[in-house]
Amino acid sequence: MKKVLDHPLIKHKISILRDEKTSTKEFRELISEISMILCYEALSDAETYDKKIKTPIKETIGQVINEDNYAFVPILRAGMGMVDGVLKVIPTAKIGHIGLYRNEETLEPIKYYCKLPKNIKNKEVIILDPMLATGGSGSNAITMLKKEGVKKIKFLCIIAAPEGIKRIEKDHPDVKIYAAQMDEGLNDIGYIYPGLGDAGDRIYGTK
Ligand code: URA
Repeated sequence: MKKVLDHPLIKHKISILRDEKTSTKEFRELISEISMILCYEALSDAETYDKKIKTPIKETIGQVINEDNYAFVPILRAGMGMVDGVLKVIPTAKIGHIGLYRNEETLEPIKYYCKLPKNIKNKEVIILDPMLATGGSGSNAITMLKKEGVKKIKFLCIIAAPEGIKRIEKDHPDVKIYAAQMDEGLNDIGYIYPGLGDAGDRIYGTK
C-alpha cells in the first residue's frame, strides 16, 4: 500500500533537493519541510477523542489525538535528517534508532545499532528513511519492529524507487508507504535515478 504525494509545492521542493548545487543548509531545511508534510499526510487516519474545552467565549467539545501513541524510528544515518520535521507534527513522540549499513556487494543491510522506546509494541511506529532504494534496509527495519511486537507501522520516505516499493509491499503488505516522489529506478550500484545522490552525505555535508 502506498501513497505518493501529488502537489505542485512538493514537486518544486523536490526539484531544489535534486539540484547538485543546493547547499547543505537548504538541503537540510527542505528534507525537514517535506518530512513534516509527509507526517501530516500519514496521520490523516489518526484516531481522535472528544475533549471538553473552554474557549474565551464558551465551552465546546474539541477533538484531540493521543500523541503518546506514536514513535518515530529513523534509520541511521540519513533518516535522522527527517526527525525535526516530523517532531513539528507530533512534538512529544518518542524516538528509536535503527542502524543498518549496506554490504556494498550484495546491497543487503547489516544491523549495527538498535535502541527503541519502552512500550514500543503498543505504539504506532513511523519509520523514517529519505531514500527507499532496494527496500532491503526498510524491510529489515520493519521485521525488527515486528519482532518487538509492533502491530502498526508506516514508512515515510522522500524519494522511492519502484523496486523498493515492490520489496516492502511483498515482504510487508500491511505497512503503508508515504513517499513525496516516485523515481524511475535504481542504477547498478543501488542509487535511485534521477534521485538526489547520497542523502546522508548531502544532509551532513560529508562529500
Ligand atoms: N541511499 C541514498 O542516499 N541515495 C540513493 O539514491 C539510494 C540510497
